[in-house]
Order: sequence, then C-alpha cells, then structure tokens
Amino acid sequence: MYEVTIKKSFSAAHVLKEIGGKCEDLHGHNFLVEVTVAGDALNGEELLIDFRDLKKWTYEILDHLDHKYLNEVEFFKDINPSSERVAKFIYDRLTKRIQTMNLGLMVSRVTVWESDNARVTYTA
Ligand SMILES: [Zn+2]
Repeated sequence: MYEVTIKKSFSAAHVLKEIGGKCEDLHGHNFLVEVTVAGDALNGEELLIDFRDLKKWTYEILDHLDHKYLNEVEFFKDINPSSERVAKFIYDRLTKRIQTMNLGLMVSRVTVWESDNARVTYTA
C-alpha cells in the first residue's frame, strides 16, 4: 500500500460552545492540515497520485474555510466547528471528489493541527 501526504495551512476563527474555558470566546487559529491518500496501484507515470492534483483538490476544499468564521459556514451551523469536525469536513469532501474519478484511491486520514502541539486526526 502506498500513501501520499500533502499539507496546507489556513486561517479561521471559531467559537466552541459549552466546553468551558477560553475556547468559548471568539478566537482564531492558523490551522495546518495534512491529507493522506492511499492505494495499491501506481498509474502509468509510476505515481500513486500527482502531488499537484492532491494539492489542488485540497486547496479547493480549504477555500471554503480560509479566513472564515467557521460557526457561520453551513456545514457547522448546528455543531461546534471543532478541529475534529474540520477534519471530517475535509475528509468527506475529498473522498467524494476522489470517488468520482475512479482512481482506485481512498483518503486514509486527515489531520488538523490547531496549534504546534495539538492535533486531531480523522481516519477511514
Ligand atoms: Zn479553537
């Protein structure tokens, strides 16, 4: 099994309700996102996937979050826009995108760092 990982950062603000402490106040993060796709078969160029394609698709998804107040993004309207939910948001959209292309790939994990020493991962 091969795995290919890219990373990209974005900035956003959020409020996490009912968890207590400072996170209930409006604050922002410079999130760092790592996306990993996996598969067994290489393409005709001996690549699992072209980094440029994976970057492009990930960047398009992050565009919906970058410089946004996450609580007002439709997906997070009724839930806390936690890093866990951000990871799932990215995972679901990237999975959908990759499935439509029939590349024999799956998104194996999405990791979201919300600070230098705190991250969450959503895995398949
Ligand atoms: Zn936060």
